[in-house]
Amino acid sequence: MVLKLHNTLTGQNDEFYSQQPNLVKLYTCGPTVYNYLHIGNWFGYIAWDILVRVLMANDYTVERVMNITDVGHLTGENEGDADSGEDKLAKGAKREGKTAWEVAEFYGQDFLKNIDRLGLITPQHIAKATDYIPQQLELVRKLKDEGFTYQIDDGIYFDTGKFPRYADFAHLDLAALQAGARVEMNPQKHNNSDFALWKFSPIDEKRDMEWETPDDLLEDGSEKIEASEPIMGFPGWHLECSAMAMSLLGETLDIHTGGIDHIPVHHTNEIAQSEAVTNKPLSHFWLHNNHLKVNGTKISKSLNNGYTIDNLIDRGYTPNDYRMFVLQTHYRSEGNFTFENLSAAKNRLRNWRNIAAMRHQTHDTLRDDDAKSTDEGTISLYATSRALIEALNDDLDTPAALVIIDEAFSRLINARLDDIHQHAFVQLLETIDDTLGLQLLATTPDISDDTKRLILQRQQARSNKDWKASDKLRKDIEKSGVTIRDTAYGPVWEYLD
Ligand code: AMP
Ligand code: ZN
Repeated sequence: MVLKLHNTLTGQNDEFYSQQPNLVKLYTCGPTVYNYLHIGNWFGYIAWDILVRVLMANDYTVERVMNITDVGHLTGENEGDADSGEDKLAKGAKREGKTAWEVAEFYGQDFLKNIDRLGLITPQHIAKATDYIPQQLELVRKLKDEGFTYQIDDGIYFDTGKFPRYADFAHLDLAALQAGARVEMNPQKHNNSDFALWKFSPIDEKRDMEWETPDDLLEDGSEKIEASEPIMGFPGWHLECSAMAMSLLGETLDIHTGGIDHIPVHHTNEIAQSEAVTNKPLSHFWLHNNHLKVNGTKISKSLNNGYTIDNLIDRGYTPNDYRMFVLQTHYRSEGNFTFENLSAAKNRLRNWRNIAAMRHQTHDTLRDDDAKSTDEGTISLYATSRALIEALNDDLDTPAALVIIDEAFSRLINARLDDIHQHAFVQLLETIDDTLGLQLLATTPDISDDTKRLILQRQQARSNKDWKASDKLRKDIEKSGVTIRDTAYGPVWEYLD
């Protein structure tokens, strides 16, 4: 089977290949941990979880790094600008009366907790920027040695004018950008698009997070180097990702992922500062998720519409309901969150779980799978598993995958239970769980023998036309969290929640 992925580098759906057979080196830009993640952030991370699962379904082993930005991401005055303004962690620290280290630890832990809740496959390496300061400084050193850097009052910058391919990745019109900058450019910068690799701490301020700037990175004769005190500083956000990606995965990755907002600045800068040193592509594939809106509006602090996973749980939704909601939109389309849409996803998932529970009810005493395997209706469940992977192999087309599953399940809903090919059915459920991570098998336990006995008694009462007893038995059955759906072929139990 051919796996195609939309590659921002080429603007096309390219057939996927990896550098080493069956091994994918994948880097995902992680969150800045100065606050709780909102559902928009998770929209992307769920998309990249599907990517990992689809790679695995195509027999790849995935070696993956996700960073945690715990320093150096500044609020910026221009769109995508992370070089100026306040450090987001320092801002969080001020807000909460804590140190930046405490803020990073708290929201970093919350991020990991929600990775588990959402059933995301945990990357092998979750790398905190503050743990990779020497690697970042080493990259600055190499860039300085190659002549790509210059020093100004507030830090060491990358000179984008010395990297001729700078505008290529995002098809930037640098002249227009220069003219259209909303905030006047720092006059010491050589080009508007130049970015800080290493920022100096303000002279009059002790930052929670700062490191000594090695002397050899400072320009000879600069005022800074004359000072008796060491020059303290901290890394730029873009530098962090390049240094961690290359030190953990090598100079060329197979896939690099992030949000579409990363294309014009963050990823453009990652490419420039990495490729300037290595002369090799930083990654063969670049994938970007579109953004999620809420009620058709951009998520923003001022609108207070950046719901967290905890907010959804408080309103009675599960993390899997949210996952289902995300799967209903292709990752490259803009998403729109409304509680109506989330409820629709919740209903779809409840229906799917009830179908999954039918595997406990297929009575195989009369006909075994072999006898059923010539039956058209049952054979097609194997075809469904294949069709599902084919849809996902087409640039992770999750909406198409859901339609394929809906169609297969609609054939099961009124099927005679013992007509269902048990093995093909369970295999389909496993494929759904493996590729979409919906945990259908884990969240659909069998009922107790006592409840099963009550169901048999109710059937008996119904065949005796003893409706009173049958009604009472239904109520008893419902006490165990399931209800009965009567079909032409007999009762089927379903979960109440
Ligand atoms: P940040 O914590 O700001 O570094 O963002 C973490 C990730 O969330 C980045 O990859 C962003 O592209 C992504 N992101 C931010 N807002 C949204 C949104 N509304 N929808 C989808 N992704 C988003
Ligand atoms: Zn990044």
